[in-house]
Amino acid sequence: TSSQNVPHVCIVGSGPAGFYTAQQILKGHPAAKVDILEKLPVPFGLVRFGVAPDHPEVKNVIHTFTNTARNKRCTFLGNVDVGKDVSIEELQGAYTAVVLAYGADDDRTLAIKGEKNPNVISARSFVGWFNGLPQDRDLNVDLDTENVVILGHGNVALDVARILLTPISVLKKTDISQHALDALTRSRVRKVYLVGRRGPLQVAFTIKEIREMIKLPNCRPVIHKDDVKDLNKVIEDLPRPRKRLTDLLYRTSMEPSDTDTQLWAQASKEWELRFRLTPAEVIETEGKVTGVKFYINELQGDDLVNKIAKVTSETEDIQCGLVFRSIGYKSIPIDPCLPFDERKGIILNKKGRVENRPGLYCSGWVSTGPVGVILNTMTWGFETGKVILKDIEDGAISSEGKHGNQIIKDKMLSKGKQLVTFSEWDKIDLEEMKRGAEVGKPREKIIQISEMLKVASS
Ligand code: FAD
Repeated sequence: TSSQNVPHVCIVGSGPAGFYTAQQILKGHPAAKVDILEKLPVPFGLVRFGVAPDHPEVKNVIHTFTNTARNKRCTFLGNVDVGKDVSIEELQGAYTAVVLAYGADDDRTLAIKGEKNPNVISARSFVGWFNGLPQDRDLNVDLDTENVVILGHGNVALDVARILLTPISVLKKTDISQHALDALTRSRVRKVYLVGRRGPLQVAFTIKEIREMIKLPNCRPVIHKDDVKDLNKVIEDLPRPRKRLTDLLYRTSMEPSDTDTQLWAQASKEWELRFRLTPAEVIETEGKVTGVKFYINELQGDDLVNKIAKVTSETEDIQCGLVFRSIGYKSIPIDPCLPFDERKGIILNKKGRVENRPGLYCSGWVSTGPVGVILNTMTWGFETGKVILKDIEDGAISSEGKHGNQIIKDKMLSKGKQLVTFSEWDKIDLEEMKRGAEVGKPREKIIQISEMLKVASS
């Protein structure tokens, strides 16, 4: 490759999709240069701001990302909000390929009465709040109530439930944000309902996460026998991961061990799985949330697992003072030029190639929707990387006249906005670990963007 024709690849977003795409390109091309742009001054996306604080082992992927960022051909540029600070068109003028890996920054709503009450909180904001995401710092989480309803049967719903029910003695040794720890210390929450529209064979959470819930100290699982008693008849016919998960739900309800039964009898908190309920409205009394009214559903369809929920005219009320909506994240178009599927909340693409936009690619949750775990995102990141390498090799995209990041530096300078490099992130990282060590935590996250920038430039 002549120096003129070195491919410059720009990746927008520094979560798993961005880092794994970068890794693949750096590995697969001996000269390609990769710039990773990130809206926040700090890297790693949902690994830092989504993954629960009591799951530190999941965050080990940060080591791999750090190695990628330290590659001489890779440049991290933090505090650059693509779509605002620089347009996609400008980036395409400067790069051989631009990869959109900016995740899912919005969430789905229910469109029901009472949803706007401040005590109906999006799980996404709550997760951001306990994980120190700057934009959620001031979320008002009112935990002065005993009963909580979480709408949704996915892993995020379980993360929310677990954080609400885990003993403070455990949480205080994690990197949970101090404001969240303080609020949770004062929490009166005793009971969490996890409510889904369909049945036990349709839950979206995975076995590891529900097992953790079943094992929570001082906390009793409530899974109604009527909901699971017939499952043993179908377990054998289920595909592998669903089989083990269903078996666990069945045994927890129908055949608990004596030890568990004794432990659960003494527990002062509990969570309860509820099925076949579609939220109809949030019940408010004098402006306060006092419950959720649900339609009771019937499940339709021949397939054991892929059933559809149909509401009936029957309803049921569950009393609570706080509601979490955990029905899925959604991406937003960050630039008007993007072909976007508003309903699915994804950029229109074929195998990561953005439709009708040569040289523009997408990867991760912005391309697939908010599904799967980091391992799935890794696979997509590698795939996107391979597609780009192929397009470079085939000459489908050209590197001529593409000079890389100078345009970003110029734009940031003209806006008076500070860029954050990876070695400046190292400073923030060290400072956070130092602050954490002082209070017995692995890290105390800096929550204000202005403070992150100050530490970066110190
Ligand atoms: P993200 O991780 O969201 O990264 C997108 C990045 O783009 C962010 O850094 C964002 O700031 C940046 N960005 C956004 N807009 C712009 C812009 N305009 N300009 C520049 N940058 C921008 N998976 C597991 O394997 N284990 C778990 O325990 C686990 N827990 C999870 C808990 C929660 C609450 C959630 C929501 C997800 C969890 N996941 C977990 C899934 C995992 O986080 C995702 O698979 C993965 O993060 C998706 O990667 P991504 O790169 O597509 O998006």
